[in-house]
Amino acid sequence: MFTESKIIQGSKTAGWVEVICGCMFSGKTEELIRRITRAKIARQQIAIFKPAMENRYHSKHVISHNANAIYSNPVEKAKDIYPLAQEASVIGIDEAQFFEADLVEVVARLAKEGKRVIIAGLDMDYRGQPFGYMPQLMAIAEFVTKTQAVCVNCGNPASFSHRLSHSNEQVLLGETDLYEALCRKCFHEADV
Ligand code: ADP
Ligand code: MG
Ligand code: ZN
Repeated sequence: MFTESKIIQGSKTAGWVEVICGCMFSGKTEELIRRITRAKIARQQIAIFKPAMENRYHSKHVISHNANAIYSNPVEKAKDIYPLAQEASVIGIDEAQFFEADLVEVVARLAKEGKRVIIAGLDMDYRGQPFGYMPQLMAIAEFVTKTQAVCVNCGNPASFSHRLSHSNEQVLLGETDLYEALCRKCFHEADV
């Protein structure tokens, strides 16, 4: 499990980037909420953002599939994050795969200015292809955590989000009715 203590001891003003990525239901949002909650306990100023389009549960919260919730600011564009994050020392961004390229710049700038930036997002889309700017974010991050779900077919660790419907859109927001977590073997055996 990621531990903040090592770097915090190093320098209180050093910024850095953490990425939490994996398939759907792998606990990315849960892990983001865990880290943000600990920052709050440490009395650090926090700010959380998500793309405005991502409103499947509640527009003003980041909510995990196990119903943990935390307040978040929905933003239209990644560049809207920068001015809103000025007061915070710890910044969380959920569903980062939906933002455009400017997210990479914003994240790098915030970290350079001494902020801890925690990003959660899908590493791959339903075809098993890298999603949005997550590869770039993983490249510039100091810490990358890959979370895994449980394969609903065989019980092994799952890294793939298998779409149950036949839509070809990369973005199709939905829940357990639309996607299931599968391991590599079951994903390739399924009707992709
Ligand atoms: P993510 O943000 O990665 O989509 P969440 O943090 O929202 O994931 O949800 C994780 C929770 O989803 C788990 O704690 C568990 O309760 C639930 N869950 C549902 N299906 C699965 C699955 N196949 N594997 C693991 N957890 C699952
Ligand atoms: Mg999530
Ligand atoms: Zn499997």
